[in-house]
Amino acid sequence: MLSQIKSSGLLGVNGVIVTVEIDISRGLPSYSLVGLPDTGIKESKDRVFSAVKNNGFKYPMERITINLAPADLKKEGPAFDLAIALGILSASDQLTWDHPENYLVIGELSLSGEIRSVNGVLPMVLAAKEAGISNVLVPFVNRHEAAVVQDVNVYPLTDFHEAVSFLKNELIIEPFTVDLTALLTTENSCHSIDFSDIRGQDLAKRGLEIAAAGAHNVLMSGPPGSGKTMLAKGFPSILPDLTLDEALEITKIHSISGLLKNHSIISKRPFRSPHHTISKVSLVGGGRIPKPGEVSLAHLGVLFLDELPEFQKSALEVLRQPIEDQEVTISRINASLTFPASFTLITSMNPCPCGYLTDPAHECICTPQQIKNYQGKISGPLMDRLDIFVEIPSTSYDELQTKPKGESETSLAIKRRVDAARERQNQRYQDLDIFYNAQLTPKLMETFCHLGPAEEILMEKVYTKMKLSARGYHRILKLARTIADLDGSETIEISHLSEAIQYRGMTRLS
Ligand SMILES: [Zn+2]
Repeated sequence: MLSQIKSSGLLGVNGVIVTVEIDISRGLPSYSLVGLPDTGIKESKDRVFSAVKNNGFKYPMERITINLAPADLKKEGPAFDLAIALGILSASDQLTWDHPENYLVIGELSLSGEIRSVNGVLPMVLAAKEAGISNVLVPFVNRHEAAVVQDVNVYPLTDFHEAVSFLKNELIIEPFTVDLTALLTTENSCHSIDFSDIRGQDLAKRGLEIAAAGAHNVLMSGPPGSGKTMLAKGFPSILPDLTLDEALEITKIHSISGLLKNHSIISKRPFRSPHHTISKVSLVGGGRIPKPGEVSLAHLGVLFLDELPEFQKSALEVLRQPIEDQEVTISRINASLTFPASFTLITSMNPCPCGYLTDPAHECICTPQQIKNYQGKISGPLMDRLDIFVEIPSTSYDELQTKPKGESETSLAIKRRVDAARERQNQRYQDLDIFYNAQLTPKLMETFCHLGPAEEILMEKVYTKMKLSARGYHRILKLARTIADLDGSETIEISHLSEAIQYRGMTRLS
C-alpha cells in the first residue's frame, strides 16, 4: 500500500515542501530510500525501526520503498524521521486519519521514539502556510518559532506515541500560540549599552548617528581603552526598531542555524562580533551542508570587527562581495544557495601596532615602517567600502572626572533623529528599490544629491586637495545626503558637505 505524508526540507533560508511517499509491497524485507537523501536521512532507517517497535507498533517485514519528492532537491538532516515513521504505519494499515494532505510533519526521532528538535522549523512552517497546509506537527522544543506563523495550527509533540494518538483522535492537543505584538514590543526596547553611559566622545557618537541614519559603514581608530568597543556595542540602541517582516527574516536565518533555543522570534537587531581568528567559511558561510556565516547572522543588524588589521587577509577579502551585494551566494554541485547579508559594518583598529600613536599620554614605540605595514593590512578595496572614519581620542582622566554622567545624550534621543532621517529616505525612495542613502548608485546621486553652485566649488577644491577617487567623491556626497536628512533639509548645504568631508579624514589611511 502507498502512503503520502508532507514534510519539509530547506533551500537556503526557505522551506520547501517535500512529499514523503512510502510504498510497502510483498517481497524480501528491504528498505530503500530514493530522492537525493544525504547520509543523515539514510540513517533514519535505524531510528525509525526502533521508534516504531519501541512504541508498540508492528514494523512491516516487507519491501519498503521511500521516495522523497521533488527528486531534484537535495535533502539534508533528520527532519523527515517522523514523517517516514508515520508513513510506514499508514502504509501498513496501522494508522488512518482525515486529510493527511492537510498536515505537515517535522521531527527527528530518537530510538525510543522521543521527537527531537530540528533546525529550520520557522521557514518550514512558513512554507506550509504558503502551500495552504493548515496543520503542522512540530517537535515540542520548536513550538515557539513555529507559532510565529499565523493562521496555521501548530501542534507540539514530545514523542511518537503521542503523535499517533493525536492523529487517531485519541488525544486532544490544543494548537500552540504566541502573542507576536507583545514579543516585538518588549524586546525592541532593551539594550545593554546606552550612549549616555559613554562619557565624552561626541565626534564618534555623531559619526555613529550618521552611520545609523544612512546605513553607512564605519572605521574607528584609537588607542586601547578609548572606548571603541563600548561605542560599537551601543550602536544597535540608536538603530530603528525592527518591523515584523524584518524580525521574521532574521529569525529564519537563526532558525536554520539552530540558534533560536527557546526564542520564538528575534526582535532585536543582531550584533555579531566574531573573533579575529575566524575562518573565511564561518565569516561568509558555506561548508558541506551550507550554513549561514556571521555576515548573514548579522543580517539587518551590525557586524562588528574589532582589531580589523588582525583578521586574516583572505577573510577580509571575502567580505567585499556581501558588502556590495547585501547577500552571499554559495555555489554547490546541484544548485547555488543565497543567504541574505545586509548589515552595517562597524570596524575598529589601533592606529599602530603598539596602539599609542595618537595618544598624548603614552609614547608610541613603533617604527614608521611598522605603522605603514600595520595600516596596509587593510586592502584599498575594503577601505573604499568604509564610509565614515572616526578618530577616537583617549579620554583623559580630567575629562572623566569633570563631565557629569547626566550630560550625555541618551540613545533614545539620538534614535528619534535617526528615525526621522530614515523616514525622509523612505519617502524619497518609495518608488525605487532602495531604502537608504548608502544604497545610492552614481546614477541616482545625480537626481538626489544635487549641489548648488557654492557647494560645487567646495567639492571641486576638496576633490583636488584630497586626491579623491571617484568612489571617494561619491561617498562624501552620500554622507552629506544623510547629514542633510538628519538636519531635515532636502537640499545639501555647505555645512552638510563640510561635516561629511571631516569623516573622510585619516588621509594617511585612505
Ligand atoms: Zn605605536
